[in-house]
Amino acid sequence: MSESQFGREDARGNWVPDRPISYGPAFAWPPQPKALVKWFFGFPGYLLPWNIPYALLAIFIWVYLTPPLEHFQTMSLSWFAVILARNIVLAILVYGAWHMWLYVWRKQDTEYKYNRKWPDENAERFTFNNQTKDNMFWTLASGVPIWTCYEVLLLWAYANGHATMVNPSENPLGFIALFFLVPFVHEVGFYFAHRFLHWPPLYRIAHQLHHRNTNPGPWSGLSMHPIEHVIYFSSVLIFFIVPAHPIHMINLASRLGVAPAQGHTGFDRLVVGEDASMDASYYAHYLHHKYFEVNYADGMVPLDKWFGSFHDGTPEAHEAMKARRRRRGV
Ligand SMILES: [Zn+2]
Ligand SMILES: [Zn+2]
Repeated sequence: MSESQFGREDARGNWVPDRPISYGPAFAWPPQPKALVKWFFGFPGYLLPWNIPYALLAIFIWVYLTPPLEHFQTMSLSWFAVILARNIVLAILVYGAWHMWLYVWRKQDTEYKYNRKWPDENAERFTFNNQTKDNMFWTLASGVPIWTCYEVLLLWAYANGHATMVNPSENPLGFIALFFLVPFVHEVGFYFAHRFLHWPPLYRIAHQLHHRNTNPGPWSGLSMHPIEHVIYFSSVLIFFIVPAHPIHMINLASRLGVAPAQGHTGFDRLVVGEDASMDASYYAHYLHHKYFEVNYADGMVPLDKWFGSFHDGTPEAHEAMKARRRRRGV
């Protein structure tokens, strides 16, 4: 399967997908029942490839990789260390797997790579002058510990009754329904956190660090300033208000922790096997890294469309973005 089937090269030789970015039918008006069913069960769609595996991962983490809840009744450094070690391993496995496959083994070379260049190994704007080392450092030294703080705080809250627990044997339907809520909380929370981070003073002291990555790779995903990590993971606090089970909290926390890897691969499609290309569709976030003030969220909720910051990758959308800039005098 060749690249030209799905896109073209721009004047600089970088790869541009042909299809405009779209949101899927979850919030389409008038409703499109047929498209909705196809999107919900299809591939790629709502359930697969990501939401079911992330829910199963959360169940696995809760059952096998989390100490019993009663241990969290008192705050203890040793339980914090256990959760931190587990999250570090999880992050290295997920970010490392994407990075090894696409950037070390270069399994598909630059096929479907938005920016044909490889990460900068000698650029002063990065910590250690190296993009990958910079990204790994901020992910593992700040991102994972702050993710762990939120998780331990919520486990402590569940253990002490400060967060209301939904018991699966008493309320099985509610328990299952909450899994469907998590991807929405993830997306909407990310959108508002991200817009806040683009407020100029906050951008300068925090979010700028993430935006060093104009040509992102998997490890760029969680490479953020500690202030940004505190804001980014704070959507987990919703479980102080919404009754749920620790599994749902872990579902949200672990998604926030590892899903940025897939959103920052820098590739539009994954070549799986000889001639199959899996549609990864992260062009929206790539454009955010390229143009900064477009596409604060990507996924199923058309927030950027509603708030006027959408860039679907077409020349028309590009002109609209330039016109917005002109109006603001930039
Ligand atoms: Zn990003
Ligand atoms: Zn941003």
